[in-house]
Amino acid sequence: MKQIIYDIRQCTGCGACSQICPKGAVTMEADEEGFLFPKIDQQRCNDCGICRRTCPVNIAFENTRSIAVDEDGSAKFVTGEASVVPPLDGKRAFACYSEDDDTREKSSSGGIFTELARRTLEDGGVVFGAAFDGEFNVKHRYIESIGDLDDLRRSKYVQSETGEAFREAEKHLKNGRKVLFCGTPCQIAGLKAFLGKEYADLTACDLACFGVPSPKVWRMYLDYMKDRHDSAISSISFRDKSGGWRVPRMNIVFSNGSRYLVKLNNEIYAMGYFKNLFTRKSCFDCRFKLHNSHADLTLADFWGVEKLGRQAVGDDDRGISLVIIHSEAGENALAALSDRAETVEYALEDAIRYNPRLTSSLPEPAARARFFADMKKGFDFDRLRRKYMDNTSIKYRLKCIIKKMLGRA
Ligand SMILES: Cc1cc2nc3c(=O)[nH]c(=O)nc-3n(C[C@H](O)[C@H](O)[C@H](O)COP(=O)(O)OP(=O)(O)OC[C@H]3O[C@@H](n4cnc5c(N)ncnc54)[C@H](O)[C@@H]3O)c2cc1C
Repeated sequence: MKQIIYDIRQCTGCGACSQICPKGAVTMEADEEGFLFPKIDQQRCNDCGICRRTCPVNIAFENTRSIAVDEDGSAKFVTGEASVVPPLDGKRAFACYSEDDDTREKSSSGGIFTELARRTLEDGGVVFGAAFDGEFNVKHRYIESIGDLDDLRRSKYVQSETGEAFREAEKHLKNGRKVLFCGTPCQIAGLKAFLGKEYADLTACDLACFGVPSPKVWRMYLDYMKDRHDSAISSISFRDKSGGWRVPRMNIVFSNGSRYLVKLNNEIYAMGYFKNLFTRKSCFDCRFKLHNSHADLTLADFWGVEKLGRQAVGDDDRGISLVIIHSEAGENALAALSDRAETVEYALEDAIRYNPRLTSSLPEPAARARFFADMKKGFDFDRLRRKYMDNTSIKYRLKCIIKKMLGRA
């Protein structure tokens, strides 16, 4: 096998190709930017093609009739008129939040992931999600007890490594256990393609996704922070709610007792993320937005709920989740929370109005290429920060003023 995905720029790094390979011929390896891509061991590969058929991106392009076959028989992706965007018919939207104050406080939005997980664990099931490892790398793993739930809770704005998670989920499903699997939309598409069939015991849950940042840049940031505070890190939250849900803060606690608590809007790593400086390339043309979600439910922050002209229950700035239901399994999963979560239905078009990342990707900014070129030249995080992320610098402010004067702000 020479090539798994028809256009490597569209690879999401979900790892389905690597996990499906019966010969262990496909491994996931980081490129210069720090994102995982499949690498084929030609000695082991017997050219069976299962990796190519399992790639969720290949499947997505085939389904939208966006694959062109050249005269020599090789295939490539085409975008534009040939792409067919399926309608959003049949999906339902709910504003939801956990009735447990502690759960809501500790979660990114309304704590619905925690309630879904708790229900699954009470039924003897297993829950998959993204957790920090001992070095604060982000990896998918599963838990079997409520005591471990906090490891999976809250958004980590770094691309998570799926590792062997799809295989492990399949093993549990084959053993008749309930599985809740939560991940980015491309990871859920990868899981479904890997499984290749429906399982009644699986609840697949994806997230509204702004895009996934580079694990390598994340490591550089962590080293910079440890250096600055002259200490190891003991905990990290990207979504501290001490200033309210609408003004989330990065909260890093260091082993020496110091704390870094900064609003995401002014936080250096978050500013780079929001400018898409180190987002994965495939996120700029995501194929798994709401129209093509493979999940049973999609979780998001219910941004804009206060503008919808009705008194939203629980809108006290402690977090409201937007839950979008795609299937009967999703409907049943939400109904099973009736004793622990407040739920109000909204018209789908209203619910998604203020959350554009549910339905569309952002364009790739020109600065991304410059950022990674500088990184390859050996710029350390501090230098990258000063050049690209510091919105308090005189250069940045001048740029904003000029942009405003030119009417481009
Ligand atoms: C990279 C990323 C981008 C996001 N972008 C948006 C956005 O633009 N708009 C929006 O409304 N919401 C976005 N979200 C989702 C939002 O932040 C909340 O996670 C969601 O509303 C669920 O909140 P909760 O309170 O129910 O659960 P939480 O307790 O916050 O649970 C979050 C769930 O997400 C999983 N998770 C955390 N980090 C990752 C990761 N890196 N990769 C895969 N899974 C992960 C956890 O395992 C857990 O299952 C994003 C999340 C991530 C991870």
